[in-house]
Amino acid sequence: MKITDVEPIHLRVPVVEEIPDGTLDVLVVLIHTDAGITGVGEVTSQSYVCKACFDAPRSAARRHGLTSILVGEDPLDVERLWEKMYYETNRYGRRGAAIHAISGADIALWDIRGRSEGRPVHELLGGSHRSSVRAYASVLFGDTPDDTAKLAQEFVDMGLTAAKFGWGPFGKNAETDVAHVQAARDVLGDERDLMVDAGHAWDADTARQRAELLAPFNIGWLEEPLSQDDRRGYGELCPQSPVPIAAGEGDVTHWDFEDLIQRGVHVVQPDVAFCGGLTVCRRVSDLCAEYDRRAVPHCFSTGINLTASLHWMASVPNGDLVEYCLRPSPLMRKLVKNLPPLVDGRVPVPNGPGLGIELDDAVIREFQVA
Ligand code: MG
Repeated sequence: MKITDVEPIHLRVPVVEEIPDGTLDVLVVLIHTDAGITGVGEVTSQSYVCKACFDAPRSAARRHGLTSILVGEDPLDVERLWEKMYYETNRYGRRGAAIHAISGADIALWDIRGRSEGRPVHELLGGSHRSSVRAYASVLFGDTPDDTAKLAQEFVDMGLTAAKFGWGPFGKNAETDVAHVQAARDVLGDERDLMVDAGHAWDADTARQRAELLAPFNIGWLEEPLSQDDRRGYGELCPQSPVPIAAGEGDVTHWDFEDLIQRGVHVVQPDVAFCGGLTVCRRVSDLCAEYDRRAVPHCFSTGINLTASLHWMASVPNGDLVEYCLRPSPLMRKLVKNLPPLVDGRVPVPNGPGLGIELDDAVIREFQVA
């Protein structure tokens, strides 16, 4: 089988607000083959820039556009193509937009391989440990502890068994932080998991003090308490923290995640449509098994990202948790016709060949950037 064309399709809702919401502007990647099979992937990054990473022509060594690297290749040789894409973009790539773009191609290649073998992607990634994955939804803390309590109640009413609160008013003042976490815990009860995203608020010392204050609320993890680049700080904080520390939604490649793991991060959070794709995710979960850590996908864009994350988690022994985005954007809710639903706090893993999803052409036509 040969790759005949790569089609990066930029989708954007009419008004993109400057809020942390990955569902408003995405790059869908279609990879076409001479066998009539088309694979689907997604990039959650700066779509204009990542599209250019595909469309750029060949140039001097190791600075080629991704489409030119892939056309003519055997799509079933997924791991080799990851190495080829990584190496042949490395003068402008390695980290940043080029590796984000590679994520979309890599997801599409796994989809092609699954479709061609008639097997779901999770089987190709290493097995089927579960047919559904437990969901957690995330939301910004409310303006007041009462508002946070109301949001927690919505999650309970939705049947979720795990929820994450973050950013907003959190991080500025210890007393307020405790009041918000207390409000969420009171509503969620002891039987549900509560995670907290600190939104890069502190240095390592402050984070350790805050972790000690929050520990009595039995939080599942404290996410990104430090700047993503404060690697030394993570190295100091993690061994001392009384609660698990999570990080990695801004990291790419298994090398970055190995660094986080070696600095002691307990829960790593690759985004499959950003970190380098399913090939990277599988390497990260292999590292987690080796170091006795846990990977939980960051996932906040479309049903393509969600489905890829579900397949990854289905293939990992301790992978029973996925972020489930509840935003109303049509790119999240309608782009994938058979979007996996939330059922009793869990999300079924598609069982059809490849990713097992079908895109809605009308949604693509409506939101495609010309
Ligand atoms: Mg986060």
